[in-house]
Amino acid sequence: MGEGRLVVVATPIGNLGDLSPRAAEALRGADLVAAEDTRRTGTLLAHVGSEAPMRSYHGHNEAARVGELLDRVAAGEVVVLVSDAGTPGISDPGYPLVREAVARGLPVEAVPGPVAAIHALVLSGLPTDRFAFEGFLPRKAGPRRQRLAELAEDPRTLVFYVAPHRAGEDLAAMAGVLGAQRPAALARELTKRFEEVQRDTLGALAEAFAEGARGEVTVVVAGAPERAAGEVGAEELLARVRALLATGLDKKAAIAEVAKATGVPKKEVYQAVLEG
Ligand code: SAM
Repeated sequence: MGEGRLVVVATPIGNLGDLSPRAAEALRGADLVAAEDTRRTGTLLAHVGSEAPMRSYHGHNEAARVGELLDRVAAGEVVVLVSDAGTPGISDPGYPLVREAVARGLPVEAVPGPVAAIHALVLSGLPTDRFAFEGFLPRKAGPRRQRLAELAEDPRTLVFYVAPHRAGEDLAAMAGVLGAQRPAALARELTKRFEEVQRDTLGALAEAFAEGARGEVTVVVAGAPERAAGEVGAEELLARVRALLATGLDKKAAIAEVAKATGVPKKEVYQAVLEG
């Protein structure tokens, strides 16, 4: 038996042509494939002619499976980790397995490949020199606004994964807290037949996708513009309040939230709403 190792393998995010020859080779050479969804990965294995056995490794059994999978690596087996799409560990199961492999001093390799976040960032037309990957926002409105508030002054381009049915509320919250005038890009169905990138302001995207979006969606948002606190026009204040009202906040709370995010006194935000 050769040297055991854990191999983290990236798979396509929609287009089978993106499976690299190295990834196919790793799947064929595996003693065991740890897969998020064994049915889905079974199709991929058949496609590359791999007969490797599979073991499920997903969000609900991650912690319980780590020891067993790494015992097999320690015994000399090549364990390949894949997720449903893209790179394992990126908003997908994988991190605990890699962390424990490293802690146990076991060899870890990765076969690089597609990541929706990077693909969307590159297509967005927004600055790529500094960016922050934020994964999915919290589902509940309060924690979601809180997370966005922490990012409101971040000058880096921000990248978010978005569940299609939550696109409307996520975009409205982004417009409300980050600013309705911020340039952004919504990338849908990347690498697939109906791939589409819409580049517009957050406010316009929130309106366009108020009812949700079809398919897989990644949102890229320009970093905070450089400006002194309080240097926000009445139009922007009004647009932010409107976006927050669309997320279900009442007027008073929306005004307070916008005041906090922009540093503009509540009275002024209220005035902008009155005049709007
Ligand atoms: N591990 C994956 C990666 O490397 O990109 C991400 C997995 S995460 C569970 C799934 C999310 O990634 C989707 O909800 C969507 O936000 C984004 N995503 C995946 N495939 C996509 C695609 N083809 N187009 C746009 N976004 C995509």
